[in-house]
Amino acid sequence: MEKQIILDGKHVAKEVKDSLKHRVEALKEQDITPCLATILVGNDPSSETYVKMKGNACGRLGIRSMQIHLPEETTTDQLLDQIIALNEDESVHGILLQHPVPRHIDERLAFDTISIEKDVDGVTTEGFGQTAFHFGRFPSCTPAAIMEIINFYNLEVEGKHAVVIGRSPILGKPVSMMLLNRNATVTVCHSKTENLPQIVQQADVIVAAVGMPKFVKGDWVKEGAVILDAGYNKGNIGDVDYDSCVTKASAITPVPGGVGPVTISMLLKHTVLSAEMKS
Ligand code: NAP
Repeated sequence: MEKQIILDGKHVAKEVKDSLKHRVEALKEQDITPCLATILVGNDPSSETYVKMKGNACGRLGIRSMQIHLPEETTTDQLLDQIIALNEDESVHGILLQHPVPRHIDERLAFDTISIEKDVDGVTTEGFGQTAFHFGRFPSCTPAAIMEIINFYNLEVEGKHAVVIGRSPILGKPVSMMLLNRNATVTVCHSKTENLPQIVQQADVIVAAVGMPKFVKGDWVKEGAVILDAGYNKGNIGDVDYDSCVTKASAITPVPGGVGPVTISMLLKHTVLSAEMKS
């Protein structure tokens, strides 16, 4: 096997953030401060941590972070009113509704109430449609991060067989479309897929987006495959069994330090772009 690459997400994220600094400054010269509004409903500790991390990342780059924390008993209508108010707020450039919301809320309706111009997290049905048609400005952040890593390291996807494990609306489905738009031949797997290890063995590019720790095993991986692990499970563990897969892969993202940091930088990039479009 040729030289192996450990795909360094922290480095990619730093490059993205560095490239945003002068753009934030240019906006400030026009008296515009990019602003990301986050909405958290309920008291899920992981969600609280994610929202805090996103707010801190905004602060370090000079992006304003407006954090709205609603109680667990918030109704769908109350949440929609909040989103509509943010849609109408001229000073807000991006809106992020932290997933998951409490079960009694209609999450899809809430996502789809976010105006497309402010959907910097790429969660709306319209945004997904745009991504699939290859003209969306704000694809979902984790799929965007995976493509950013592919671009940064010049990894070949055209004509390659990409196997995506997972088909969620924010991850598996959009990343499949994005790989297809880059001329990969894409197979999308899910919980009902039969013979999964045999399918993964045919992959030149593997995207793991399952939500199960160390799910992808080394003996499922073809020698020289590129592995992108979007998984982020309790204890900072990816969806890929890194130790057994690293010996087979030509390039692999570690967890932590792989897709995760780039995902946050994509959110910042989309927020800045939204502010630029407004200006
Ligand atoms: P999700 O909504 O739970 O979707 C999981 C997907 O995996 C589903 O499509 C499911 O299939 C499939 N699946 C479950 N068990 C399977 C099995 N045994 N074989 C094959 N497929 C199976 O999860 P998600 O939101 O997409 O997240 C996936 C992972 O990415 C999680 O680890 C999450 O923490 C991580 N994540 C990371 C970031 C980041 O910034 N790095 C952001 C978001 C999520 P069905 O559709 O048939 O149920």
